[in-house]
Amino acid sequence: MAARLIDGKALALQVRERLATESAAVLAKTGMRPGLATILVGDDPASHLYVKSKQKACDAAGIYIDDHKLPTSTVQAELLALIEKENADPKIHGILIQLPLPKHIDSKVVLEAVSPDKDADGFHPYNFGRLVEGHPVFEACTPKGVIKMIESTGVSIEGKRAVVLGRSNIVGKPLALMLLQRHATVTICHSKTKDLPGVCREAELLLVAIGKAKFVTADMVQDGAVVIDVGTNRLPNGKVVGDVDFEPVSQKAAWISPVPGGVGPMTIAMLLDNTVESAKRKAGMM
Ligand code: NAP
Repeated sequence: MAARLIDGKALALQVRERLATESAAVLAKTGMRPGLATILVGDDPASHLYVKSKQKACDAAGIYIDDHKLPTSTVQAELLALIEKENADPKIHGILIQLPLPKHIDSKVVLEAVSPDKDADGFHPYNFGRLVEGHPVFEACTPKGVIKMIESTGVSIEGKRAVVLGRSNIVGKPLALMLLQRHATVTICHSKTKDLPGVCREAELLLVAIGKAKFVTADMVQDGAVVIDVGTNRLPNGKVVGDVDFEPVSQKAAWISPVPGGVGPMTIAMLLDNTVESAKRKAGMM
């Protein structure tokens, strides 16, 4: 079987177009566009690139940006003061703290300082707890994007055997909870899982987020599975590949997402989606 492609770039474009209309509706009702504060500390080139592409996407979706680029020498108290200011700013509906932060800053303290009702990344323990309860408010962007990608195939999640590879707090764990909420039967795998290939072969939905280039090979995949690859790995030759060995696996899967052009663009689209949702909630539009 040659798998059909889940085109994250095309899906993200559709999301941005929908959000542009919704942003215009928020503006018409409140006189204010949905607003996102972006906070970047340090000079990591990849982080600068990520923030730039997020801001470009915001522009396309009619979202106002309050951009903050701080030097590496920024102390934690300064960063917390800025977050406090953005928490109180009525023009701001979402706050993005670009990770990683410099080593002298405690990311956990910083992420918890973001007001839960502006937590567009969905990383605050309040929002994580709401997801555990089954009543999510802000859902973390990457797993939310993965769910939209599965839904775009028309394959129902309900009742499916889903296997999530990876148990990080930003991808694997929240993704497993989102699948559970949609009535999948979910297994979470990690580095200590026994017979990982055997567990993966049971998956009708195989969602991979471990950060190991081409780790999932064709013999680990059931015929007709939906395979979504979150991994982003740069090879020594500079090429970016996923955690899934794309060519051979696409001969077995029914649906597969590429890297690049899969989960990455959808993660950005979901940050915008969360920001616009937040503005609509504040405006009593949902
Ligand atoms: P992470 O925090 O490093 O977690 C990796 C997870 O994979 C851990 O739970 C680890 O298990 C598990 N793992 C590692 N090696 C394994 C192995 N050999 N067998 C089974 N499980 C294994 O990573 P993350 O932040 O979730 O990110 C995962 C990947 O997704 C990375 O490539 C990252 O760059 C990418 N990513 C992409 C996006 C995007 O927007 N496209 C967003 C976020 C992340 P243990 O818990 O046992 O150590």
